[in-house]
Amino acid sequence: MDPCNTPACQSAREIFHELDDYYDDHNLYFQTISSVLDAANLLKVDQRLKLILSQPKNEIMVHCPVKMDDGRWRLFKGYRVQHNNVLGPYKGGIRYHGEVKLDEVKTLALLMTMKCALARLPFGGAKGALKIDPRSVSRSELERVTRRLTAALGNNIGPDYDIPAPDMGTNAQIMAWMADTYINFAESSTKVTARGVVTGKPLEFGGSAGREKATGQGLVYVLDALLPGMDMDVSKLSFSLIGYGNVGSWTARLLQARGSQLKAVMDHTGAICNEAGIDAEALAQHVQATGGVNGFTGADAIDAPNFYSTPVDLFIPAALEQMVDLEHAERLQCKVLVEAANAPTTPRAEQHLLQKGVEVLPAILCNAGGVTVSYFEWKQNRQSETWDEELVDERLRKVMTRSAERVLATAKRLDCSMRLASYAAAIAHIDKVYEMRGVFP
Ligand code: GLU
Repeated sequence: MDPCNTPACQSAREIFHELDDYYDDHNLYFQTISSVLDAANLLKVDQRLKLILSQPKNEIMVHCPVKMDDGRWRLFKGYRVQHNNVLGPYKGGIRYHGEVKLDEVKTLALLMTMKCALARLPFGGAKGALKIDPRSVSRSELERVTRRLTAALGNNIGPDYDIPAPDMGTNAQIMAWMADTYINFAESSTKVTARGVVTGKPLEFGGSAGREKATGQGLVYVLDALLPGMDMDVSKLSFSLIGYGNVGSWTARLLQARGSQLKAVMDHTGAICNEAGIDAEALAQHVQATGGVNGFTGADAIDAPNFYSTPVDLFIPAALEQMVDLEHAERLQCKVLVEAANAPTTPRAEQHLLQKGVEVLPAILCNAGGVTVSYFEWKQNRQSETWDEELVDERLRKVMTRSAERVLATAKRLDCSMRLASYAAAIAHIDKVYEMRGVFP
């Protein structure tokens, strides 16, 4: 990973020194908090807030013994990092991934705090993970490990305290198992409301219309709000994507439905390109059937360097963190990089892109559609209501448009990048609440 070389890192070093805590310039959490503190400095907030935000409130680690189908036992490591809850219950997804590390989960939890605050949702930020490759286990193994993880988390989650949701490697089925397990432990009088412990549930079991496509849909609404100001039109764009999971494939299908053209896609199985356009629907079916973009007949296979240098209007990373480093950024021929994934761009890559005139739209703005519809689901569960997709979309558009306008106005006011503006707009809100509530004792 690129070392931290921005002025912001100096501020973060000072804070970590004060905390007498360990830091590493190459570490993702350190780089992310550096950028957040940079935004805090632009606002000239109190040192108290900088200290509070610089570390999560709780870092929970559990180990789950599970009997596999062949009779052998495995021990799976799980995490739940609760970064901040001054605005409301902790909120954020649970990721299943074979390579996940605590620092990554901490970073994602911090970003959830920022994301919910920017969208003005009544939630704090958290993130969970299980170190497992979900593709390598059977369905019943996946169910057992999910139930065991939920039991291990115990009262560290709850509909009024900390509300998980899907993330990479998890889905509505996994949320249903989590909710069911949690309900089994709940007191009789709270069993009905206990399913609000997770969002992103299946429609039939308390889920919300529009939740599955929500992240992609929210991203399209952000583009609707921002692109006209850059002289671009959502119905005439070309774009490429890294990742074709939930976020990538929904983004592609929704942008295609609006008239834009998908040119190239890369995922863990390979990269493909079609100058005349890739059919996003057909590709979604291919990925569903085969597990990746490789072998799709409606495009040609290309190598990674050619994927990055394919000329497009929008380049949209929708996979893991830090996939776009300086070397990739140097190849990019796009007008705007739209962060659908969390923290997909390294600081040096971002610096390079901004210098060459490429706008970078930050993740906490672009991908907040998922958690926003999670909030709608949680609200519907509490009020025993069922909203139709039209209503969900209308309310989602409102939240995303306001957030985009907030970021734009903050960038102008502080004369800073869209990323720093998105953090600053989030921090300003958190700061106000701390000012009013004070810090106990
Ligand atoms: N995992 C999604 C995110 O990173 C959604 C979180 C949620 O719905 O709570 O924003």
